[in-house]
Formats: sequence, structure tokens, C-alpha cells
Amino acid sequence: MYEKYKTAEKKFWHPMSSSAPGNQARRLVIARADGNYITDIDGHRMLDGVGGLWNVNVGHNRPEVKAAIAAQLDELAYYQTFDGIAHPRVFDLAERLTSLFAQEEMMRVLFNSGGSDAVETALKMARQYWIAAGQPGRSRFLSLRNGYHGVHVGGTSVGGNGVYHYNHGQLLPGCYHLDAPWLYRNPWDCRDPVELTAYCIRQLEEQIQFLGPETIAAFIAEPVQGAGGVIVPPDGYWQQLREVCDRYDILLIADEVVTGFGRTGCMLGSRGWGVAPDILCLAKGISAGYIPLGATVFNRRVAEAIENAPGFGNVIMHGYTYSGHPTACAAALAVLDIVEREALPDNAAKVGARLNEQLQPLSERFDVVGEVRGKGLMLALDLVADKRTRQPIDPTEGQAARIAEEARKEGVLVRPVGSKIILSPPLTLTTDEAGMIVQALEVALDRQG
Ligand code: PMP
Repeated sequence: MYEKYKTAEKKFWHPMSSSAPGNQARRLVIARADGNYITDIDGHRMLDGVGGLWNVNVGHNRPEVKAAIAAQLDELAYYQTFDGIAHPRVFDLAERLTSLFAQEEMMRVLFNSGGSDAVETALKMARQYWIAAGQPGRSRFLSLRNGYHGVHVGGTSVGGNGVYHYNHGQLLPGCYHLDAPWLYRNPWDCRDPVELTAYCIRQLEEQIQFLGPETIAAFIAEPVQGAGGVIVPPDGYWQQLREVCDRYDILLIADEVVTGFGRTGCMLGSRGWGVAPDILCLAKGISAGYIPLGATVFNRRVAEAIENAPGFGNVIMHGYTYSGHPTACAAALAVLDIVEREALPDNAAKVGARLNEQLQPLSERFDVVGEVRGKGLMLALDLVADKRTRQPIDPTEGQAARIAEEARKEGVLVRPVGSKIILSPPLTLTTDEAGMIVQALEVALDRQG
């Protein structure tokens, strides 16, 4: 079957991949999916340990979501939402999100088409907030190293991994990156969570004082860093981060594109840390991959300042053709019904904890596994060349990809990213399926010798 596409496959650039000719060795063509399983074009069925791209939280091919999409297509496939035009589904979803996040005092939603849009919207609206609040000098952004905030110019600029910067020249000025609270690797070689939090918070305060708080619009971070390698901050870090932001009057933006809707074992990653951000960036799990959708949600402080700004200050000169796409909204409403009905955040907490526990012995048994870490159903194996120094394997040598390849032969798809193997299965994963992931990785690592 795959042979049929040998010419056509050259016409398409894979995002986040080398475009050099001959770099297609690892191509995997997925033809179908059902529940927690995917099937490639040659009929090989695999457990989806990647969950699409951290997003197929309710599993594939759910009849309820398909029915909601079909009904919406019959009713109204598309209409815009600019300038006073709306449709019922955009109201339904805005109502649903603000009530879901009422405890964070989330009041207003701007819809878009995905995570990068959600971040870009958050950054721009944070600046609009400060103009509305009479402090237009607050335009800078703080963020964390290893953070990932999508690929638009703003999101790339606040992103904390150079590989996304190198090919794109001058990015947004005024973006400053701080060390992530990462216990496994940090510049202080600190292994104590309380001390590490203190170091990171001190560094943050020094940076704020150096720049001048009156120049800073917002701090943006993921409650658990995903693409950077599933970096779980120590308990208490986010609370202290919130306190510092409050002390210096800086907005806190939680990029919950991955962590939103249950992946960390809580409806929001930030809620899991006991913190209410000012702005939430949502995408992925909101519609679980069925139709592209993103949303940026604003709390009372931000919403009221913008709405009450005089003159042009309250005009939202931002939005997309697909802001509030009715079919995407209908899909999201059906997905959120499943997330709530099946208590998927709880399942992620329970099955994730079990998976984490079962994976831990791999770091004792195999030299190459430096650490297994995660929260809920976002986990990573950190692969090292030297366990003592924690030196990562050379990502250009393809070892992570070879391990993933072997796991695939055992019927489980996992995601090699640089020197890590990432796991982000659907939140509908069962404990038996978690066991399948462990077993496949064990065999794969064994074969690597
Ligand atoms: N923020 C975070 C935390 C993400 O992980 C991602 C995507 N992986 C994005 C933003 C960008 O989302 P998208 O790819 O939908 O634009």
C-alpha cells in the first residue's frame, strides 16, 4: 500500500523534520484509528502511546463526537464571529469554558484554531491589557528555558529552546528566559525541590528588578513543560511564581495547551498546583484532535480592564476567520461531555501514576535510561550517555528513534524527541494498556543492549 505513495510523499514537507532528500526512513503512514489504537497503511495495529500529538484525549473514532460534528455540519458548518455575528455553538462553548473554570474567575473567551494561535492571542491581549490599564510601558515577557509555546513569532520568541529559533532570524525583542525548575538538570546541580524552587524564584526576582517591573507585561509558562521533555516543577514552585507575579503586578499566563482538560490528572495543570492564572491558553484536548480549535481565556482582572477601557482601548482588533468555528465548537462540546462523564482527569491521575511506577525500574535496569518522570499521562524517559553526569545521549545519533522503532514492532507507538522518549496516550488508557507500554519499552531497551 505504502508503495503507492512513493512519488506523492516527496511533495509534502513534514513539520519539525529535516527536509533533506532521503530523510524519509522513519515514515509511518497512519490509515485508521479506533479507541486507543491506530493502524498503519499496511494494516499494523498499535497502541497509541502518543495520543496523536498529546491531544487525542478521549480516544479515536468516538461515535458521540462524530455525531455532534455531523449534526453541526447539517445545521451550520461555518460562519464567522466578527463584529456582532455569532451562532449558538460559540455561545454554548464560551459558557461551558467559563463555568468549567469559574473557580479561576475566568470570564471571557477568544477562540482560535490551535495552540500557537492561543499563545499569540494571550501575548497580544496581555499587552492590550496594560495599555488599557494605563501602563503601556509593560510590554516585555518572561518565560522559562525548555518551554514550548508554539511556532508563531511571539510564541517562538518566548519559547525556551534554541532549536526553534536558529532558522528564523531576529525574533520578538523584550523576551527573557529563566532557568526551569528542573530537578534532574539545573545550573545549580541542586537536587532538593525546596532549594531549587528558592533558586529559581530568586533568579526570577533578580531579573524582574534588573529589567524594572514597570516594563514587564507577563510571565508565560506551561504548568508541566511538555515538548521540553516533560519537566515537572517541584510542588510549590507555581504558588511562589504566582506570589512574585502578584508582588510585581505581572500577569501570569498558563500555557495549558497540553496540560488543559486532564492530562496532568487535574482539569487544569495550574489548578493541580493550586494556582489561578490571569490568562489560560487552551487547545489540543479541547477538541481532542477531531477538529482544530484553540481558545484563550481571560480572568476578571484582564476582562474588566479591557472592556472598561475608554475609546479604542476596548476594541479587540484581533481574531481569525475561524474564531469560534461552529463545527469545531460542536466537537469540543461533545469532547468535554466525555471528559466529564468519564472523569478522564481522574483516570489520567490513576493510570498515569501506575504507568510511572511500572516504568521506574527501567532506569535501574538500563544504563541508557537516566530518569523516568511525569505527571498524570504525560511522561518521559530521559536517555543518557552517562548516568552519573546525566549527560544526554547525542540526539543526532538516532538512539531514541531506534528504541521507538523497536517498541513499534511490539505494537506500541511512542515518540522519540531528541534525547527523550515521550508518552502522552489518550486519557482513556486502561491499566492493562499501561502495562503494554511498559512491556514494549522493556523489550525495545533490551534489544538495544
Ligand atoms: N503550547 C504548548 C505548551 C504546546 O505543547 C503546543 C504544541 N505542542 C503549542 C503551544 C502549540 O500548539 P499548536 O501546535 O496547536 O499550534
